[in-house]
Amino acid sequence: MNIETRLVQIGVGREETTGAISYPVFNATAYRHPAPGESTGFDYTRTANPTRTVLEEAVADLEGGDAAFACASGMAAIQTIMGLFSQGDHLVVSLDLYGGTYRLFEQILSRFGVSFTYADMRDIEQVRLAIRPETKAVFVETPTNPLMQVADLAAIARVAKEHQLLTIVDNTFMTPYFQRPLELGADLIVHSATKYLGGHNDVLAGLVVTKGQELSEKLRLLHNSIGAVLGPQDCWLLIRGLKTLALRMERHQANALSVARFLQDHPGVSEVFYPGLPDHPSYEVQQRQASGFSGMVSFRVKHAAQVPEFLRSLKLISFAESLGGVESLCTYPSTQTHADIPEEVREKVGVCDRLLRLSVGIEHPDDLTADLAQALEASVVKGGVRA
Ligand code: PLP
Repeated sequence: MNIETRLVQIGVGREETTGAISYPVFNATAYRHPAPGESTGFDYTRTANPTRTVLEEAVADLEGGDAAFACASGMAAIQTIMGLFSQGDHLVVSLDLYGGTYRLFEQILSRFGVSFTYADMRDIEQVRLAIRPETKAVFVETPTNPLMQVADLAAIARVAKEHQLLTIVDNTFMTPYFQRPLELGADLIVHSATKYLGGHNDVLAGLVVTKGQELSEKLRLLHNSIGAVLGPQDCWLLIRGLKTLALRMERHQANALSVARFLQDHPGVSEVFYPGLPDHPSYEVQQRQASGFSGMVSFRVKHAAQVPEFLRSLKLISFAESLGGVESLCTYPSTQTHADIPEEVREKVGVCDRLLRLSVGIEHPDDLTADLAQALEASVVKGGVRA
């Protein structure tokens, strides 16, 4: 069945007692056992919950995985995966990366003796060179947050397999609607489901998807033991959001392309980063490994002095720190999402003080470009700079 249909039908036909089309929220934390040694399949909600099971089975199916685990946030999902590693282990990680992931690795996991090397994943030689005898996994974000750099997933998974490493992919920006990394050789997927999967800026959630029985059982143990699981109400919100994922992603993408083209032609803008623009350096890789380009666009204004007035002047687009919802948001990575990355590292990667990130929503594209036009105009005039 096609993905659009599978998305809409999540949970339908699963509640046999009443036939409810929308699968109910099971708030119960405990379940009666029919007899000693017997179970309905549900004993205690941290281990398994019926609403969560419907969500997890659906996401495993969408990603082409064997199991999925719903977590309290994207960071909880990443931390759950990190439970696979021990003191002395090393991971190779995308150089351009969500700041919270960098913070977890550098400020917390490093204290437990796990170390990380950051490599530009567009360059497969850099990945090879970063691998050490104690390396256990490659952690890839693609496209990266916020610079939209694209890694060739099949090539990275091949190198990882040669060295018996796990390939972990953060698929938050693409969702399984556009990109399915397990089909390209990855072993584990992580999502901030707070973003496109939920889609409405109203639920904090994360997901891990695994391939293979052994890995699935290891993650099942970690998920239940760490306990950073998603509550049933939030599972329901996520199921509700997923039903419209296909429609939303198509519209996010069409709007993002309009916005990217508009920004490219604007004299107040120096660079636009959107993998759906044919002159993006990774346009072909992206076309090969995914069926779309999603709705995230980053750009640099010409002068840092434009930024405060630009953000103050936005009316329709909210200056806010998230992405993937139906409402358009604009983020300033250097003081928001990436503030915990040291300035010299940020500058080296390209997350400079002229960089802005747009999560393009599903409003009418003309209204979005009109808002950007007036805010850019104000940024040039009131920012006191010549475009
Ligand atoms: N991964 C990516 C690519 C993100 O953008 C984020 C959050 O912005 C996360 C992971 C963390 O997700 P959460 O905020 O749901 O914990």
